[in-house]
Amino acid sequence: MIPGARLIILGRQGAGKGTQCVRLSRHYVVPHISTGDMLRAAVREGTELGRAAKEVMDAGGLIGDDIMIGIVRERLAKADATTRGYILDGFPRTVAQAEALAEITADRPIHAVIDLDVPREIVVERISSRRVCRDCGTNYTASGPEPSPWICDVCGGDVTQRDDDTPDAVNRRLDLYESQTSPLIEHYGGLGQLSVVNGVGNPDNVFQRLTGVIESRRHNAGGT
Ligand code: AMP
Repeated sequence: MIPGARLIILGRQGAGKGTQCVRLSRHYVVPHISTGDMLRAAVREGTELGRAAKEVMDAGGLIGDDIMIGIVRERLAKADATTRGYILDGFPRTVAQAEALAEITADRPIHAVIDLDVPREIVVERISSRRVCRDCGTNYTASGPEPSPWICDVCGGDVTQRDDDTPDAVNRRLDLYESQTSPLIEHYGGLGQLSVVNGVGNPDNVFQRLTGVIESRRHNAGGT
């Protein structure tokens, strides 16, 4: 395995992107750039961006393209991303974001765009039991209606249900995914950049499928 990769991971909320992206980022020694995590950090820190984003996020809506493109442009210009690469999780979410990203990455194109595919019925079930550490972002699965918060095994932070993982917000986000984000699948498919990976099953098997696809895409790109 050669370190370094420039990847986009697409998929419905709850498809396992967060978990797989953390593993991929360790495997390829590249930063995991999650726009959702960046926005949640801004909300926690109470920055201007965070204050503006909170209401939209809680309602399960999308932050404006210009703001998101600005955030990602700045992040991809940092040394770790320019030298080794990155895994983009949660961006792009619209075709306008994808077009801006193609321009931002024109000198160092993306190796693979992966759609981590999990059917809607399965993700709804997964999200309703998802719990997340507010501090380090580690994901947990609740086995029932535990009193929350509980303590994170990794950092000692509070583990709670995300404000946007309530049933109404989840359904709204999944509808939005179908209407705004799934055209991206068509967009990247048309460019011949898309690989669909089955995200159902044991996380180790899903990880093997992902690295298999990434290796072959990178090989075809000639190691650039
Ligand atoms: P996520 O953790 O990826 O599910 O993102 C959580 C929320 O952050 C989303 O429901 C959106 O409100 C917002 N968000 C994250 N990434 C983007 C993006 N690329 N474009 C617009 N909104 C975003």
